[in-house]
Amino acid sequence: MIESFFWWTQEQKLISNKVSQFVDDNFEEAEKYFWNTKFPWPLVRKVADEGYFGAAVPKKYGGLELGATGGCIVAEQLGRLYAVGHVFTVSILAGLEQILRFANDDQKEQWLPKIASGEELGALCITEPFAGSDAANIFTTAEKDGDEWVINGKKRFITGAGVSDRYFIYAKTNDDPSIRKQYGHLTSFIVEKGRPGFTLEKINPLIGFDNVPNGYIDFENVRIPDENRIGAVGKGWNVMMAGLNFERLIGSAVMIGGFKDIIALLFHYTRRRVQFRRTTNRFQGNADGIADIISKYKMARLFSYHCAKLLDDGMEPMVDASIAKKMNTEWMREVGITAIQIMGGDGLTKFYPAERMLREGKIGEIVAGTSEIQNLIIYRFSAMLPIYNAALRFRWNDEVNAPIISKKESKFKGLELNEENLLKVIAHDYKVNPGLYMTPDDVREDIGGSRSAIRNIFESLEKQNLIVTHRDRQGKIVLVKATYVGLQKAFPKEYYQWFPEWYDDSDKF
Ligand SMILES: Cc1cc2nc3c(=O)[nH]c(=O)nc-3n(C[C@H](O)[C@H](O)[C@H](O)COP(=O)(O)OP(=O)(O)OC[C@H]3O[C@@H](n4cnc5c(N)ncnc54)[C@H](O)[C@@H]3O)c2cc1C
Repeated sequence: MIESFFWWTQEQKLISNKVSQFVDDNFEEAEKYFWNTKFPWPLVRKVADEGYFGAAVPKKYGGLELGATGGCIVAEQLGRLYAVGHVFTVSILAGLEQILRFANDDQKEQWLPKIASGEELGALCITEPFAGSDAANIFTTAEKDGDEWVINGKKRFITGAGVSDRYFIYAKTNDDPSIRKQYGHLTSFIVEKGRPGFTLEKINPLIGFDNVPNGYIDFENVRIPDENRIGAVGKGWNVMMAGLNFERLIGSAVMIGGFKDIIALLFHYTRRRVQFRRTTNRFQGNADGIADIISKYKMARLFSYHCAKLLDDGMEPMVDASIAKKMNTEWMREVGITAIQIMGGDGLTKFYPAERMLREGKIGEIVAGTSEIQNLIIYRFSAMLPIYNAALRFRWNDEVNAPIISKKESKFKGLELNEENLLKVIAHDYKVNPGLYMTPDDVREDIGGSRSAIRNIFESLEKQNLIVTHRDRQGKIVLVKATYVGLQKAFPKEYYQWFPEWYDDSDKF
């Protein structure tokens, strides 16, 4: 039985138990495909027959309409079947969210039932030989010719290459640098297998994603009708971005199902392995390792489903989806390493699934945006959030003789705005934050006055070597700090001195 969350609907709880049972029943078969190194077609068909590909597809298009949460529930469980989980994930990522948001009604009627039924597998095609993390740098072109588009180019690292029927691609439709600058150069299309000129170029031998073909595809004058264009011409970047939160979330959910099986394996294994006349679960290091994996499993699930709820509530959890993707994949790699360590040499053999976790986790850290790219998103978007942008005012508190974060006004507020007083404000900041610069706004808040008057005084003080400035590319002053000469001129030496009570006077100089 899988632990559900209190905010899940009854239908979501039911599907969770159903798909978990399905996985338990088919685990043995999935293992056979692993050993036979064959694409698990019959198992994929079974998943399709159960209707799981339609977990997040609206009912009117033949789906189960269980939202992003439903998609994650199915991905989490199918992830325990390794190859099957990846095929499921990429298949719904190849168009579902993009079509729901950007396609017209006819296109929805045409494609969504196929996604829901799983009768055709899908592949998502962003990456190219020269466009990896820099996904906007796509070279593949689409040129309009009458009612058709002609596609030329290549895509690589495509999961499900060859076995998929539906390829959701992004191609360049405009070369104008000014349009490119505004990300208006891309358009998204669906290309079906079998179109003349559309061929499979190469299959990558990979560290993991066992039995899932991953490779290069080639487009040579491939003609598709305009009906295969999803979203407006030049809106491909928006289509790609809109699908990414869902993609990262589903991609993170598929990683965590296997944690449960590894925990069960480790309990089983360490209760049966004896060294130094003790079962190995009695070595604290091994128990710590299992506890660590359980903690990661619970945290990963909680955060992923929290994030899915945000998506289902109509929000765009950009930061959260990136955190889920980054943490779950990193944790999967770490879980693999910990499990191997607990099992010793056995863990390194393919006879146990611990080594698979490590290999899959490492791929996870690269696929669908590397951990570095997730960090970039987490940092950049968070830096704009008001919650992290409260102006912190460190003010000197004479009562305790220390700098304290305070809401009080600066002691310089209201003084006449002239060079002497402005230098005092900046020099005083050395006493409070010795290693930090002040922004012009910090200075203005402390003393008042107009921005232009303050800027003029900065220029003058800089010329006299009383302050140093840090400027942006346009030459605008963005930070200021007093020079040592400026500090001497503003206040006597004693003003900056500070010693703890216990410090002996005889040691001062
Ligand atoms: C198994 C597998 C399956 C995949 N499936 C698909 C698929 O189905 N469809 C698809 O379109 N793509 C797929 N990919 C491609 C995947 O999304 C890319 O590999 C990934 O986005 C990274 O691109 P890259 O490999 O070109 O690395 P690069 O972009 O060349 O990055 C190399 C290194 O530089 C770092 N780096 C790059 N830019 C920055 C930056 N601005 N700041 C900091 N660090 C940076 C990266 O983090 C990385 O460590 C798959 C990849 C793999 C391995």
